[in-house]
Amino acid sequence: MSQKWEESHKTVCSYCGVGCGIVVSKDKKGRLKVKGDESHPVNKGMLCSKGMNLHYTVMDQSDRLLKPEMRWSRRHPMAEVSWDTAIGRAAAVFKTFIKEHGPDSVGFYVSGQCLTEEYYLANKLVKGFLGTNNIDTNSRLCMSSAVVGYKETLGDDTVPISYEDIELSDCIFIAGANPAWCHPILFRRIEKHKADNPDVKIIVVDPRVTDSCGLADLHLQVQPGTDMFLFHAIGKYLIEQNMVDEEFIRKHTNGFEAYAHEIKSRSLQEYAAMCRVPIDSIIEAARIIGQSKGFITMWAMGLNQSTAGVNQNLALINLSLITGKIGKPGCGPFSLTGQPNAMGGREVGGLSNLLAAHRNLANPTHRKEVADFWGVDAIQEKPGLTATEMFESLKSGKMKAIWIICTNPSVSMPNARLVDEALKAAKFVIVQDISRKSDTTQYADLLLPAASWLEKEGTMTNSERRISHLAKVVDAPGMALPDSEILIRFAKAMGFHGFDFNNPAEVYEEYTRLTKGTSIDVSGLSYHKLKRAGSIQWPVPSSDHPGTPRLFENGKFLTQDQRANILGTGAQTAHEEPSEDYPLILTTGRIRDQWHTMTKTGKVAKLKKHIDRPFLEIHPDDADFRDIRDGDPVRIYNDRGDVQVAAKVTASIKKGVVFLPMHWGKKLNIDLSRANNLTSEAVDPKSKQPGFKFSAVEVLRHLIP
Ligand code: SF4
Repeated sequence: MSQKWEESHKTVCSYCGVGCGIVVSKDKKGRLKVKGDESHPVNKGMLCSKGMNLHYTVMDQSDRLLKPEMRWSRRHPMAEVSWDTAIGRAAAVFKTFIKEHGPDSVGFYVSGQCLTEEYYLANKLVKGFLGTNNIDTNSRLCMSSAVVGYKETLGDDTVPISYEDIELSDCIFIAGANPAWCHPILFRRIEKHKADNPDVKIIVVDPRVTDSCGLADLHLQVQPGTDMFLFHAIGKYLIEQNMVDEEFIRKHTNGFEAYAHEIKSRSLQEYAAMCRVPIDSIIEAARIIGQSKGFITMWAMGLNQSTAGVNQNLALINLSLITGKIGKPGCGPFSLTGQPNAMGGREVGGLSNLLAAHRNLANPTHRKEVADFWGVDAIQEKPGLTATEMFESLKSGKMKAIWIICTNPSVSMPNARLVDEALKAAKFVIVQDISRKSDTTQYADLLLPAASWLEKEGTMTNSERRISHLAKVVDAPGMALPDSEILIRFAKAMGFHGFDFNNPAEVYEEYTRLTKGTSIDVSGLSYHKLKRAGSIQWPVPSSDHPGTPRLFENGKFLTQDQRANILGTGAQTAHEEPSEDYPLILTTGRIRDQWHTMTKTGKVAKLKKHIDRPFLEIHPDDADFRDIRDGDPVRIYNDRGDVQVAAKVTASIKKGVVFLPMHWGKKLNIDLSRANNLTSEAVDPKSKQPGFKFSAVEVLRHLIP
């Protein structure tokens, strides 16, 4: 290290779920610089554009929330207060609502950006002590369909493989994901693997021609919402051509006959017509898969964010099971997470129907185990409200108060105008954030300043079950506190026992004790050992255990009979059909250099150089029909709302489909650029994940008066 840089610390990127290692250096004046950690097994020194510019988000304090702020009523302006006053007010309000309306009148909405210790504490506080299960997370919006998919097929919410399996595979099937933009360092590894091994085949399933398609040997440009039928068609061909692993099916699975019977009920021609993919392409994909030795399926929001999200997960995981390509080098299903700690949240029971260490709220034994561990009488049986249900309940007046931590639902939730109405209708809104000016903070009755990345320490888990330690590098500005400290102060103000933690290490150690004997046992991974190792993959059941890169190598799954379930999907779950009024299908997603609602990436000038404003991708035929030229202002609308942006006329999107980026909000940026003005709050019936990828809309050239 040169003399100018006085200290350096190892940590992990706070954007996507790839979980790249970062070295942060600090000079005498407190200025920061970042570089990729060459010793980190995930990225081996590489960083993407977002990761390379992370330090600017910490150094730019322009919109930081520095002190608690509060208003005594909606008629009063926000005023700065002390932490004691702020926490005292939060406790008084929660006690009053719980006393007058019961514990289900309050709830917490948290985030996949929270550290594992913060997630654990929030869940302990709500489920163990407030007496409600009303705590859900924005991860509900991105991966809850994968959680159900894994549980139903493999017996537990377990990603079976590692990034290093990529380098051992010869067929990577990417569906409903654009890793070139959304998981860039993972994509670099795929690119390198293919460059080193030209026989490796990449298949991409997407209604759009994305940058990921540039690497594909085969692009299946599927009709939105029909991926499940494409996977069934591939399964059908594999079975008919005897390209399945009969021995694996016989020894290690249940349900094959029923699955085969279901998918044989349609011809390949029928499936091809439904998903609008040429039959030759379906057969080519099936042959590549059938002939491969190492077959990885990789997916993200394109499958999960659907009212049929669970079925799409099941249909894809089935392909790994019928080919026996799981639990072996270079093989397995691999869901990608969009947030840095969506996985850590899953581990500590961060969804309203889960409990810590992959326990289920519906299971009385699990409830008792956790209640006994926390020293409380009982955990309520009734599942808590999910993300969309929580805002619906606020709007109807049933739920009175919500505490929002580290997320911006006014931009990120579906049917955003409903969310705005819910936040206006709420009797009390607490927003705990680093930013003073997110679209959600305007609804707050109490604003609590939180510490940001590099200003606190703890742990996170990436997409491949790798737990990493995050170092504290700088002090938080003003009166901002780590989220765990805020939760502990509130718990104590409520008079709850069991929150006498002095640091994140103590919270982590308590959580790891709760994992003992479970599928995600990390009781052998002390905080000290993790800090020394930097990162390790769970389970780690004993202190001398090296971690677990790959699961199910013994062919034993986590179901009761240790056999995986090959499951049929039944009929497609209904989604919003295009109509005469709204004939186009809107799908939403990310762009390369922005992340979520831009509260961090939006502050970095360099990141705006890639794409600096929202746009609508529309096919030339659909544009011509509406007399729209490239760059024209267009109005996209349906019964839920409007968006007005510039048209990007491109043949890279399927005819009949339009695409909007999801990042822009309504207040911080350009008015009427919020994609979620148009999306529906309809959810998958099992996972309760909203269907962001399918909304019926119309588009008109917008005539500016
Ligand atoms: Fe960060 Fe993801 Fe980029 Fe890695 S790939 S540097 S984790 S945003």
